[in-house]
Amino acid sequence: MKQMVNQLTKFEEMKRKLYVLILPVIITALAISIFYSDDTHNFNNFAVPSLLVVYSISWFLIYMRKWFHYVEYFNVLLISVLHLLKFFDIVYNDMVVGQSISTGSATYWTPLVFAFVFVTLKSRSSVVYSFALWCLTLAIGLYYWIDIPYYARESLVHYFLSNFVYFIFLFFSRHIISAFTKAEMLEKIAYEDSLTSIANRRMVYLWLERALKKDQQFSIIFFDLDHFKRINDEHGHLIGDKALVEVTLLVKSMLKESDYFGRWGGEEFIILSFKRNKQETIDFAELLRKAIETHDFPGVDQVTSSFGVAVVHSTDTAETIVNRADDALYIAKNNGRNQVQYKEI
Ligand code: GH3
Ligand code: MG
Ligand code: MG
Repeated sequence: MKQMVNQLTKFEEMKRKLYVLILPVIITALAISIFYSDDTHNFNNFAVPSLLVVYSISWFLIYMRKWFHYVEYFNVLLISVLHLLKFFDIVYNDMVVGQSISTGSATYWTPLVFAFVFVTLKSRSSVVYSFALWCLTLAIGLYYWIDIPYYARESLVHYFLSNFVYFIFLFFSRHIISAFTKAEMLEKIAYEDSLTSIANRRMVYLWLERALKKDQQFSIIFFDLDHFKRINDEHGHLIGDKALVEVTLLVKSMLKESDYFGRWGGEEFIILSFKRNKQETIDFAELLRKAIETHDFPGVDQVTSSFGVAVVHSTDTAETIVNRADDALYIAKNNGRNQVQYKEI
C-alpha cells in the first residue's frame, strides 16, 4: 500500500515537472502568435492574450506547488472551451465565410488538448471527456458541412480522423504504460526486500539458478549477524532494523559491480561473487567482517558477524551450494563467532 501511495505522488510530481517544462514553450508560442497576428482575427485577438495570462499564472502556481489540482482542472476546462470556440471559428469564419481550405496552424496544437485531458483526468473520465469533445467538434463540422467549400472538406476529414487516431492512441498508450507500471511494481514487491531494498531470497534463488544453468564459476559468501536477538532485546526492534539497513549500506559500498547481494532472511545475507577465486572470496569476506566489526552503528555499541564461504562445484545445485556456505557459517558460529570459515565440497 505504501508503495502504491509513493507511486501516486511520484506520478503527480512527474506531471508537475512536465507542466513546468512545457508551459513556457506554450507561452512562447502564444507570444509569437500575438506578434504575428493580424487584426482581422477576432477570436485570436481575444483568446491568445487571455491564454497567455492564464498559462503564465498557471505556470507560477504549479511552480510554487499551489492548488495543483484546481489549476489542472481549470485548465482542462478552459482549453476545452477554447478548443471548441477555435474549431467553430475555423469552420464558420474561415471556411464558411472566408472560404479558406485549411484548418490552419492552430490545429497543430489540437492533439495536445487530448494529451492534456488524458494526463489530467482519471482513466474512465478521460476517455468519456475526450470522446465527447471529439464528438462536439464533429457535430460543428457536420452542421456546416454543406456550406463548407469542397476542398476544405478534405482538410476537415483529416482533422477528424487524425484526432480520432490521437484519441485511440492515447487511450492505449495509457493502458500500456499503466500495465508496465503495475508489472514493475509487482516485480519490485516480489523480488525486493522491503526493509533494505536489496534482493530478497526469491531473487537470490533466481540468480543462483541462472548462474548454475550457464555453468558460471562463482563463490558465495553467507553471513549472519552475531547475537542479533540480543541487540533487539537491548535496544529495541527499530534500532535493530536500522542496524540491518546500515549493514546493507556498508556491505553494498564495498561490492564490485559483478557482485550480487541479497537478504536471505532475518539477519542473514548472501553475496554471489563472480570475479573472485576461492582465496579472494575468503579475503573479501574477511574485509567485510572487519568493516562491520569496526563500523559505528547508531544506538548500538558494536555489531559483529560470522561468515561462511563456498565455491561452486560442477555437481552443485542451488541448495547444495547454499547449504555448504551455511555449514561453514555454522562452524564460524560454533568457533566463537566474528570470523570467516570456508567449507570444501
Ligand atoms: P547468532 O549469533 O547465533 O546468530 O544469534 P542471533 O541472536 O543473531 O540469532 P537468532 O537466529 O537466534 O536470532 C535472530 C534474530 O534476528 C531474531 C530476530 O528478532 C532478529 N531479526 C530477524 N529479522 C529481523 C528484522 O527484520 N528486524 C529486526 N529488528 N530484527 C530481526
Ligand atoms: Mg544471528
Ligand atoms: Mg540467523
